[in-house]
Amino acid sequence: MRVLFVEDDPAVRGAVERALRAAGHDPELAVRGDKALEVALDNPFDAIVLDLGLPGLDGLEVCRRLRQAGNRVPVLMLTARAAVADRVEGLDAGADDYLVKPFALDELLARLRTFERRAQTNGATRGALQFEDLVLDRDAMECRRGERSIQLTRTEYLLLELFLTNPRKVLSRDVIFDRVWGYDFGPDSNSLDVYIGYLRRKLEAGGEPRVIQTVRGVGYVLKDA
Ligand code: CA
Repeated sequence: MRVLFVEDDPAVRGAVERALRAAGHDPELAVRGDKALEVALDNPFDAIVLDLGLPGLDGLEVCRRLRQAGNRVPVLMLTARAAVADRVEGLDAGADDYLVKPFALDELLARLRTFERRAQTNGATRGALQFEDLVLDRDAMECRRGERSIQLTRTEYLLLELFLTNPRKVLSRDVIFDRVWGYDFGPDSNSLDVYIGYLRRKLEAGGEPRVIQTVRGVGYVLKDA
């Protein structure tokens, strides 16, 4: 994979660069957030690994501006802070996943593999999915509710695709984690509720009724209230 790795700590940068190369990836390195944003907007990457604290522009802002520019490259956010609020902020900025520092290099490589798997699954499934006034066009990667066009991040897209391919079927949290992320967030599993919250907000922004319902203690289901 072509990976843009953005990190201002030279020791971490060197170790991760070696690990990426050893795993067969093609890394490009950046130190400053503002430079990284320029490079990311001008070049196609398969993934961006983005440190949160960066000179120039912090990781959250880089991610936010990428998404505002319509760039959907998968972003793995590195954070030194384990607090839930910090992670939620990363997801809010449009990151697809996060890793808490210090992390094992194997863990970083495993997260990149889930991005790779998701990209392959995405390419294999085509055509439009529909549930009432909600349409997901997988060729154009566009979502519409009635006449309203909805911009989704990559993770929101994958979540919605999973619901639309399983209408009226209760999906457990484990199944959702496995199908969308390829692993379980474990004790951090409230991230799933955060993602569902964002997706609902976008799907209901025009005052439309809720279609993703909570099944308490189990998971979620796509159906009318
Ligand atoms: Ca840093």
